[in-house]
Amino acid sequence: MLRIGLVMLQGARHVHMSTLQKAADECGIEISLHELRMKSDLTEADPHALVLPGGESTTMRLTGNHETSRLLPAVFDWIRSDLSRPVLGTCAGAILLSDPQDGGTSLIPASIDRNAYGRQAESFQAEVYSEILGRDFPGVFIRAPRFDSIDDSAQVAATHEGEVVGIRYGNRLALTFHPELSNDTGFHRWLIELAQEVAV
Ligand code: GLN
Repeated sequence: MLRIGLVMLQGARHVHMSTLQKAADECGIEISLHELRMKSDLTEADPHALVLPGGESTTMRLTGNHETSRLLPAVFDWIRSDLSRPVLGTCAGAILLSDPQDGGTSLIPASIDRNAYGRQAESFQAEVYSEILGRDFPGVFIRAPRFDSIDDSAQVAATHEGEVVGIRYGNRLALTFHPELSNDTGFHRWLIELAQEVAV
């Protein structure tokens, strides 16, 4: 049984859970979902893959660095220690991967501009092309960040009108949109299948 950990500090968490379950059913892979709120949850779950949802990165940093949680530094250490660990970071999750602010290196080789598209009113939906899925994907952008400089070591994972909106580095995937808010389970299936491969 594959163990998938979900960072539950704030934001769009529950839809990720239902999307992960749907994706797992579609691939015929059994998963257990582990809600992570504090450092000990990560140790106990010992996950094969992690999801960092979207939401508000400032709030996530406050709750996840608080002494009652300490989840964020533990999650960053977990990710940093092995490039083959499958991780999906969406929107605020991508911000945390790019800029962990824990004194260590960036977890994806790109810098990111928060709220680069403007206010809530500038949120939008658009087809993106995903290089790793090899097809279009319905992108939901909510107060989305923008990658502003991307190192050559990163692989382009998704583009929108020629602009990079998704980056893969090792088995880490950072998307500036919310894949869980579309009906398409493609990126969640990608994570689960990858976790299955890495776990054996
Ligand atoms: N604007 C948010 C932030 O700065 C991210 C938005 C999102 O995750 N939908 O954290």
